[in-house]
Amino acid sequence: MLINGEWIETSADKLVSVNPATGAVNHEISTADRSHVEAAVAAAKEAAAKPAWRNMLPHQRAAILHKIADRMNANADKFARLQMLENGKVWSECVAQVAGAASTFRYFAGVCESLGSEVTPSRGNYLSMTVYEPYGVVAAITPWNSPMTMEAQKVAPALAAGNAVILKPSEVTPSPALELGRVALEAGLPPGLLNVLPGMGAVTGAALIEHPGVRMVSFTGGTESGRRIAGVAAQKLMPVALELGGKSPHILFADADIDAAVASVSGGIFEGTGQSCVAGSRLFVQRSIQDRVIEALIRTARSLRVDLPDAAGAQMGPVATFQHREKIEKMVQDARLAGAKILTGGSRPDDSRLAAGSFYLPTLIAGIDNKAAIAQQEIFGPVLCVLPFDDEEDLIRQANDSAYGLASGIWTADYRRAWRVARRLEAGTVWINTYKQLSIATPFGGFKDSGLGREKGISGLRLYQQAKGIYFGMDG
Ligand code: NAD
Repeated sequence: MLINGEWIETSADKLVSVNPATGAVNHEISTADRSHVEAAVAAAKEAAAKPAWRNMLPHQRAAILHKIADRMNANADKFARLQMLENGKVWSECVAQVAGAASTFRYFAGVCESLGSEVTPSRGNYLSMTVYEPYGVVAAITPWNSPMTMEAQKVAPALAAGNAVILKPSEVTPSPALELGRVALEAGLPPGLLNVLPGMGAVTGAALIEHPGVRMVSFTGGTESGRRIAGVAAQKLMPVALELGGKSPHILFADADIDAAVASVSGGIFEGTGQSCVAGSRLFVQRSIQDRVIEALIRTARSLRVDLPDAAGAQMGPVATFQHREKIEKMVQDARLAGAKILTGGSRPDDSRLAAGSFYLPTLIAGIDNKAAIAQQEIFGPVLCVLPFDDEEDLIRQANDSAYGLASGIWTADYRRAWRVARRLEAGTVWINTYKQLSIATPFGGFKDSGLGREKGISGLRLYQQAKGIYFGMDG
């Protein structure tokens, strides 16, 4: 772990990282207990308060963020390989995610040196201003599916905003975060401003968020963990940003460009082996084109190359852990027992080269309605539920009948309908005739059980600051 610029190893409670593609042990990682959390918070508090950081000019902070991005780019293969070994994502996606994480640091470097304070309208003989100040110590807690993306999305704006950060990566994917800590030191970030504490959520994560010195938490993960963290934050009166789960509707109207839509539906659920918060896991297809779409989707799903993540041309790697595959298998089995029809997949691949890994085939489920457990609960795996609808009203009713509200997609040739439906969907992101298009410049977050607050975009930096009003009296 990394505390105050020092690398610390412990012997107790090591995390054993297992390669989900092969079942082999990758490495063991030290975990942080309460005493490490204590030390990290003390170091972060001190580093955040030092004049060298507190008074550092925004363009100077931006220069450090650019250097971190440079170091990420220079070490891209190492970052990508660590992620691939720990969560089994295919190589091409790992490489793209390192580039994306580096560009997130560059984006927030730009925001950092462009954002200013404001002179607010005066209602008397005074000059009033709003300035924005850091919280001090921010905890960033991340999941295993896209660790580098999430970590950059939190660490870059939190540092740009002038905070010190304690990063608690997922127990499944601790290494990219440790590597980020290393390149940040190399880039000249003063010690203590980025501390990295691997460990279990219930131990390290819980100790971190409960610590009185932590003044803001930025969390990405499951809805139940998010609810628990929000409860602790309520007691401390501490702001939280929560990016949580999803069960996103991907909608095909009969007038859509069906070939393009089918390719997008397939990518929207099967990329990343379905382990994406914005996975389009409920396909709503207008009844008149249902048979044609299902046929095309079965063909597409069966043609996907499920392979070792570093195999050339691999499109789907394993799910990230063996335990997670068991959960997916149980959900699909329960749906089968409840009468669902498995159109394709629903099992492990029949390929001896993959037998030691936690692979699962792209799966299509039909013969259910939107109330079924499999259509309501987040699976976080390569499983798509196909649900027919009759007209716009029927579609809106079903699509919004979900605890979640993270993302959604609409395929139609009618722009008026696209606009109408987009405005009525309860989701933080709506894609029209595209899917999973994400930009660091656009705020992102969930409605309903999918979260609180918005990351990314210019306001993604303000998330890590508090406003202060300053008045200069002009009388006399
Ligand atoms: P998780 O909630 O189990 O864990 C996420 C992180 O929180 C881990 O680092 C974990 O150790 C930590 N944690 C767990 N319980 C905690 C507690 N009580 N206190 C403090 N920390 C705690 O989620 P996961 O299984 O790692 O990730 C999958 C989930 O993340 C899915 O639900 C997925 O939809 C969601 N996710 C959401 C987004 C988004 O942007 N909305 C992005 C990616 C993943």
